[in-house]
Amino acid sequence: MRIVSSAAEMTALSKSAHRAGKSIGFVPTMGALHQGHLSLVRAARDQADVVVVSIFVNPAQFGPTEDFAKYPRSLKTDSAMLEAENSDHLFYPSVEEMYPKDADTWVTVEALSQKLDGQSRPGHFRGVTTVVAKLFNIVQPDFAFFGQKDAAQVAIVTKMTRDLNFDVQIVVCPIVREADGLAMSSRNAYLSAAQRRQATVLSRSLTRVQSLAKQGEHDAATLIAAARQVMAEEPSIKLDYFEIVSPTTLDPVSDISNGALVAVAAYVGTTRLIDNLLLPTSR
Ligand code: AMP
Repeated sequence: MRIVSSAAEMTALSKSAHRAGKSIGFVPTMGALHQGHLSLVRAARDQADVVVVSIFVNPAQFGPTEDFAKYPRSLKTDSAMLEAENSDHLFYPSVEEMYPKDADTWVTVEALSQKLDGQSRPGHFRGVTTVVAKLFNIVQPDFAFFGQKDAAQVAIVTKMTRDLNFDVQIVVCPIVREADGLAMSSRNAYLSAAQRRQATVLSRSLTRVQSLAKQGEHDAATLIAAARQVMAEEPSIKLDYFEIVSPTTLDPVSDISNGALVAVAAYVGTTRLIDNLLLPTSR
């Protein structure tokens, strides 16, 4: 596997792969890789001829009081994991390579960026869409793989890809979980043993909604109230939001019969975790 830190070199590699008639599958990440990330790499390996993974802790998507400086960075183990998955190229640019000092152009999906995590993380999605647009231009992928774990990001990147005519197929992969249900996340490394146990309440609140929905409960307000009760079982965890929305517009729905995205975000100590569940249409 080749580690590439220059954007120009990355683009040259992609162009030469395309000239050779090869398709490119791209997995953007911030590193500190776990099985969730690797599931995307495997999907890319299955679907494309050349697999490019990026590791870039993107300062533009962190707020001033967020964890950019302490975000886990583990290039050595990450690159060994990617090597073992037969990735072809690891794009690993510096902040200066991605954002030259006078860079002043942003990509924003206006309305969607204000919803769900956008409410408590102002500017976050603008940072995400800007870096993903730049990475798409640099890597020129045919397929780009994203995790359902970041459901709002999926909606926003899908919209950006359509609105800006990126010639990229967005592939969404299911959430990979720990045995006890906790969604895998690089931020789980921040949790103490006690917090790690408490954190399962997020997935338990979603499971509760899922079983009530299976029993025929369609009313979103009733489902949210039941989920909040489960969240309240861990009083030390501060709920940020629990919402039931349309997976594409991210607007709240009052009835789940047409399918819905059930999304939760909560602070476990100072660590903000998210999780979600897609409810299928029941009509
Ligand atoms: P990140 O490094 O957190 O920016 O994540 C990079 C990609 O991996 C994103 O598309 C995430 O949605 C995806 N991802 C992160 N955690 C998981 C997970 N537990 N299951 C599936 N995909 C994930």
